[in-house]
Amino acid sequence: SLSIGIVGLPNVGKSTLFNALTKNEALAANYPFATIEPNVGVVGVPDPRLARLAEMFGSQRIVPATMEFVDIAGLVKGASEGQGLGNKFLANIRETNAICQVIRVFDDPDVTHVDGEPAPARDIETINTELILADLQTIERALPRLEKEARTTKDKDKLEVVEAVTAAQKVLDEGVTLFAGAAPAGIDLSLLRDLHLLTAKPFLYVFNLDEEELGDEGLRARLSELVAPAEAIFLDAKIEAELIELPDDEALELLQGMGQQESGLAQLVRIGFDTLGLQTFLTAGPKEARAWTIRKGATAPEAAGVIHSDFQRGFIKAEIVSYDDLIAEGSMAAARSAGKVRMEGKDYVMQDGDVVEFRFNV
Ligand code: GDP
Repeated sequence: SLSIGIVGLPNVGKSTLFNALTKNEALAANYPFATIEPNVGVVGVPDPRLARLAEMFGSQRIVPATMEFVDIAGLVKGASEGQGLGNKFLANIRETNAICQVIRVFDDPDVTHVDGEPAPARDIETINTELILADLQTIERALPRLEKEARTTKDKDKLEVVEAVTAAQKVLDEGVTLFAGAAPAGIDLSLLRDLHLLTAKPFLYVFNLDEEELGDEGLRARLSELVAPAEAIFLDAKIEAELIELPDDEALELLQGMGQQESGLAQLVRIGFDTLGLQTFLTAGPKEARAWTIRKGATAPEAAGVIHSDFQRGFIKAEIVSYDDLIAEGSMAAARSAGKVRMEGKDYVMQDGDVVEFRFNV
């Protein structure tokens, strides 16, 4: 499955957050959860629709979509030059599909900050600078070879890649990540894919705040602006760690007391899933109610292939009702007689929340 790397300076709350994510009873009880390596956690994507479907279909179990979080230690100033865990850090982060930066906003005299005191803008710049320097090194190493290939073959695609890489180098030289700077500079990121550049991955930001800061709308707006167009999630890692120890109803009460409907962890998983460019479709029956992961824009046969390659090969059609229509009608039979169940062919582009049954040849 696709993974999100958690990065940040030391003592910002990364481990607290990662541990809360992977020990999350609310996710782990109903949702499959596994630890592959100590720093890798598989987390269920919270989806209240599954419980409703399970009720309607009398499903024995609920199986959510999953995604991986990787706790990546070792980001310090100079990581791109091999300081600290430098090279290991860079190798680990290269393997992830998106980058989640944890930024410390909370102030605590008992928890030292590497650069004296928390300053979100400076810390984001420190992290981005290391990632940008690593990308510049990658480009400097690759460019002569790419240029030579393009020159000798005169291949149009190769020339296009050289142009894109050179443009990317310029963006990075100005201290801007490719995630933020590629689109404005007209760079097609798919041309850079072979270089596995770190700053070309989607970014999201977790701001670790104190409880009082969580309620400060002005502060939140300023922090959001700092990282746009990336998504910002605001939470208190210490409270998140306490929340997972509480029964569901007490946890909800505590959250609502702070003016929140959903835990920071649930927000992180939900928004992370979206940042990875993923969406779900749903299946339901007596055995299980289940969410399956597809990329946005996937067609019906591609979705069928996620369940089984035979389903894709022998795809005939998909019987689809939107989750909202199904709930509004109350049952599959009612949805069918109301004409809400559609037969879709091989060109159909899947929509989030489609409840599906595939017809296929074996
Ligand atoms: P890491 O080095 O980024 O993994 O940071 P840790 O998760 O190990 O946290 C470092 C210290 O900060 C620990 O003592 C945590 O208990 C503390 N800490 C983490 N999050 C918060 C928070 O939101 N508020 C406060 N006051 N302390 C926190």
